Amino acid sequence: MNDFLIVGGGVIGMMTARTLANSGADVTIIDQGELCKESSWAGGGIVSPLYPWRYRPEITALANWSQGYYPELANLLAEETGIDPEFRAGGMLMLRVEDDAEALAWAAKNQQPLHHVDQQFIYEKEANLAAGKEQAIWMPEVGSIRNPRLGKALKKSLEQHPNVRILEHVEVKSIRVMDGQAIGVNTSNAVLGAGQVIVCGGAWSAGILAEEAVLPNLPIEPVRGQMMVYKAEPGLVDRVVMLDGRYVIPRNDGRILVGSTLEYEGFNKQTTEEARQSLQASAEAILPALKDIPVEHHWCGLRPGSPDGIPFIGAVESTGHLHLNTGHFRNGLVLAPAATELLCNQLLGQTPIIDPSAYLPKTRLSTKN
Ligand SMILES: Cc1cc2nc3c(=O)[nH]c(=O)nc-3n(C[C@H](O)[C@H](O)[C@H](O)COP(=O)(O)OP(=O)(O)OC[C@H]3O[C@@H](n4cnc5c(N)ncnc54)[C@H](O)[C@@H]3O)c2cc1C
Repeated sequence: MNDFLIVGGGVIGMMTARTLANSGADVTIIDQGELCKESSWAGGGIVSPLYPWRYRPEITALANWSQGYYPELANLLAEETGIDPEFRAGGMLMLRVEDDAEALAWAAKNQQPLHHVDQQFIYEKEANLAAGKEQAIWMPEVGSIRNPRLGKALKKSLEQHPNVRILEHVEVKSIRVMDGQAIGVNTSNAVLGAGQVIVCGGAWSAGILAEEAVLPNLPIEPVRGQMMVYKAEPGLVDRVVMLDGRYVIPRNDGRILVGSTLEYEGFNKQTTEEARQSLQASAEAILPALKDIPVEHHWCGLRPGSPDGIPFIGAVESTGHLHLNTGHFRNGLVLAPAATELLCNQLLGQTPIIDPSAYLPKTRLSTKN
């Protein structure tokens, strides 16, 4: 029997598996598809919340920790696996921000490098932006990660690990509970036992836990996000640029991502022509040259939407040996290292990196958001 059984192999499940395995535990990670092919693949990879001052302190606390750790994590994974997740520390330029006073106040309170910048600064940083952008908010330390590569590197790290067993194309139907304690999972074709079960099922988490009423009514729902990528040459844009809630993200090979939509359409994973046109318009409003560059791919993913975007991290009070790390909504890539560390601190009896109470399922489920 395994020490830990992890349901869901997105970045959250994989980072949780890696940290636990590195502590010496035996871990099984199960995914109904392949590892890192859902939201964690589909996301943009900005290592910051968008307009971070608009989020609650619970998000800021996790994001701060992760942002400090991401460059080291990317290096470690590149050395360990030979796959570079391409962390880029280019900064984030947010054009035409109306609540800049709030941004500056948040930055001062949280000791975040954030500046109000003028037209000259904007075009010195990004010469190819559309004309007429007069002011912006600049966060020099925000980076981005190439999340499909992060997923590949994490998967390889787990494949190489002697303590990890990976099960792909195995759907978990329900959590097995006996005498008030989780003892494993029921899959489509087997019963798997475990000392502790951790649900990292992203947008599907509520459905898994609702089976046999283990934890009914977990407020997590799928929120569709559509994105596109342009096959550009390097040099058109060097950093994350945002305008009116939309953004462009450069990759090392010149490709430029544009995102994203926010749609409540259940588990529907179809892309739409309407979103394609809207994303193209947003991309060209930031970088007019994209008008003449081909769109290589248009896709969508299902974010694990949760109230205020605050994840559920920790033990389920009503069922022993059952834990959650889910509900990271729009920020799962940036929050993943901190959310994982915080959960593993609790599982391994370590001093927590930050106060865990605000993220515990019992706190979150008793708070009306
Ligand atoms: C368009 C878009 C842009 C985004 N941009 C950013 C960004 O720039 N920065 C950022 O920080 N975040 C971003 N996000 C959010 C981020 O991608 C998510 O918050 C994060 O990937 C969630 O990770 P996860 O591991 O919880 O979920 P997922 O990656 O969805 O993984 C959940 C896994 O659970 C598996 N699973 C589900 N049910 C079962 C079952 N019954 N049995 C077995 N396995 C199961 C699934 O197959 C899946 O692999 C974006 C998301 C989208 C869609």
